[in-house]
Amino acid sequence: MTAGLFDLNGKVAIVTGGNGGIGLGMARGLAAAGAAIAIVGRNEAKSADAVAVLVKAGPKALAVAADVTDEAAVDAMVMRVRGELGRIDILVNNAGINIRKPPESLDPKEWDSVISTNLTSAFLCSRAVHAAMKAAGGGKIINIGSMMSIFGASFAPAYAASKGGIVQFTRSCAVAWATDNIQVNAVLPGWIDTELTKRAREQIEGLHDKVLARTPAARWGVADDFAGIATFLASGASDFVTGTAIPVDGGYSIMG
Ligand code: NDP
Repeated sequence: MTAGLFDLNGKVAIVTGGNGGIGLGMARGLAAAGAAIAIVGRNEAKSADAVAVLVKAGPKALAVAADVTDEAAVDAMVMRVRGELGRIDILVNNAGINIRKPPESLDPKEWDSVISTNLTSAFLCSRAVHAAMKAAGGGKIINIGSMMSIFGASFAPAYAASKGGIVQFTRSCAVAWATDNIQVNAVLPGWIDTELTKRAREQIEGLHDKVLARTPAARWGVADDFAGIATFLASGASDFVTGTAIPVDGGYSIMG
């Protein structure tokens, strides 16, 4: 009964921030299930390296240089993916940054930069793919939140605001586009070993061990922990799942 349920052959996925970290872990899962992948990031060389990894899994992959905070760049990226890969079935809104400062020290430009990279980008990309997905009879959108979609963060107010916003944006699109057969869900990563958290580990003394102590699974997450959830949420296996926010955190968010 489940044979073929996770098959993504013939599907096309856009993964923003897919040239490293969690995005690349998700892209690897989607590619292994058969999807062609467009990797979107600002760093062209890094995106080309990611594409080289993905094509070894079989399907077509394309690197598109774009800043996802820029409306015109997002629209051009979506047009290029439709032109070169033929369709768009899956969008992973994963690009993200953090600026670690308490609210009183955060510059308004820094606030804008975090909100536009983590939240406005998801709006711009989702809006840009909606027509293509609707015309194709449906689609899947996966937005990346955080534990800070749930918890406050004294040293990351813009980040927490953006990630809280991602969950409400997810629910709003899920409701708006349910009858277009577009399922919209969020994934909330715990502490994952990537470039983003490498910087946090350098700034926060003892962070590595604190995470181990608080996480029931007693380990940091890795990028490949996201291959399965991405494949589930991108496939027919999740056709009646929409508007959810699923923690992928080794149990971090259930600890009091
Ligand atoms: P990384 O720093 O490893 O990757 C971030 C990605 O975002 C890069 O590929 C980067 O590519 C891309 N990116 C950043 N800004 C832009 C932009 N303006 N336009 C296009 N691409 C951009 O981070 P992670 O893999 O750790 O994070 C991925 C997502 O997961 C983020 O949304 C993050 O907030 C979230 N997350 C991560 C957690 C963790 O513990 N690592 C925990 C919770 C959530 P380039 O530089 O080429 O533009």
